[in-house]
Amino acid sequence: MIDPHPIDSYRHQGLRNLLIRSIRQKGITDESVLMAMEKVPRHFFFDSSFLESAYEDKPFPIGAGQTISQPYTVAFQTELLRISKGEKVLEIGTGSGYQACILTEMGARVFTIERQKTLFDRTSKFLVQLGYTTIKTFYGDGYKGLEAFAPYDKIIVTAAAPYIPDLLLDQLRVDGILVIPVGEFDIQIMTTVRKISPESFEKKEHGAFRFVPMLGDRAKEK
Ligand code: SAH
Repeated sequence: MIDPHPIDSYRHQGLRNLLIRSIRQKGITDESVLMAMEKVPRHFFFDSSFLESAYEDKPFPIGAGQTISQPYTVAFQTELLRISKGEKVLEIGTGSGYQACILTEMGARVFTIERQKTLFDRTSKFLVQLGYTTIKTFYGDGYKGLEAFAPYDKIIVTAAAPYIPDLLLDQLRVDGILVIPVGEFDIQIMTTVRKISPESFEKKEHGAFRFVPMLGDRAKEK
């Protein structure tokens, strides 16, 4: 069970400082990312029997066959987004809600979509319990994005995408950035796409990562 009223002790803060130091050593330099990760207690997002694992730089199961991403991966993707305060950010793959909290601590206005109802229900409720009441959670299919609130300054996909969905590019504002791990099998290539104009995009690749696959391409079935 995830503790609905978790406590952040000095011990947890100490472990978190060590984790942030190791992420810094691995090459993350954006101070606003590191500060947000130092602030959000990652152990809050873990089942209380696994608290010890919360401050290791590893992904971890969160139920429903999903994982909370490795802290370094969260930092790497968030750094690529180049968040400024007040920006509107769409996240695909709410999962535990941890990434959404990091973005919120950086001053972003977060909209997040989850495809699995059990995770959506659990995480939506939990984020409110933690006091993250500004995060807007949606149950739906990330391949379609969230047209109602578009355009977004930034879009982050936190599951492996077999290709870059056109609808996400449509919902990005000009000069906005999409960060998405692209690839179908074991390995994905972290990819950024900057929208130069309504019709033109600049794509860059940033190395290999491993994510759980994006589910149910309902948009494609139509
Ligand atoms: N960002 C999360 C980790 C995400 S793991 C965190 O901070 O914990 C990937 C998540 O994407 C899973 O919860 C999975 O259910 C969800 N997902 C998979 N396919 C999806 C889709 N098509 N649309 C929205 N969410 C999806």
